[in-house]
Amino acid sequence: MSVNLSAYNKIKDQLKPYGAKLVAVSKIKPAADIQALYNAGQRIFGENYVQELQEKQALLPADIQWHFIGHLQSNKVKYIAPFVTMIHAVDSMKLLEEINKQAARHDRIIECLLQVHIAEEETKFGLSEKELEQLLEQWRDQQNNLTNIRIAGLMGMATNTEDLQQIRKEFHHLKTLHQSLKACFFASQDTFNELSVGMSGDYTIALEEGSTMVRIGSMLFGAR
Ligand SMILES: *Cc1c(COP(=O)(O)O)cnc(C)c1O
Repeated sequence: MSVNLSAYNKIKDQLKPYGAKLVAVSKIKPAADIQALYNAGQRIFGENYVQELQEKQALLPADIQWHFIGHLQSNKVKYIAPFVTMIHAVDSMKLLEEINKQAARHDRIIECLLQVHIAEEETKFGLSEKELEQLLEQWRDQQNNLTNIRIAGLMGMATNTEDLQQIRKEFHHLKTLHQSLKACFFASQDTFNELSVGMSGDYTIALEEGSTMVRIGSMLFGAR
């Protein structure tokens, strides 16, 4: 067992003044490690791979809130739709429609975050600002048919760099974008409140820049 409970308690104390949530990222780690953190009080866990998530979900307590944080293919939504609480990395209307369809089959509402491309790297997934606006316009027109999803906010990943100012700038930009989209598309609804940013290496900056949800793996479970 390699769960770092002192790091867990420290992170929880750091999140408290911000009212931010912790997603404990358990990808590749055994179910026993998740159970250990669960026993310490953690309920939200993030996973990146569909099959791995299915296997762990079957083994672990039913009141865990599972967040899918990886890149999700439309044809795999059906495997996690019966139980997943939130999907962090939605990057197309097609995926949103499929999540809605599968959630409806189980009479559930699945919360979704739209992944924004904020990093400099070309390789990272996510929507550009223009694509994001287009998707939200489409969603607004079809809202009445998309009652089994809730667009809960945005998710982003900073550039993988040592330059902390760069990371701060990217997070700050995402916060600004989040505010303007909320005003534009969600003015009459109490949703779109979440900003999922910050990982083990940059979560303190993310909190200072308005994160409501940090996704932390290696600090809790050790290196992968
Ligand atoms: C793996 C992963 C994390 C956690 O990263 P750590 O650096 O281990 O904290 C966060 N978000 C996403 C999308 C991930 O894939």
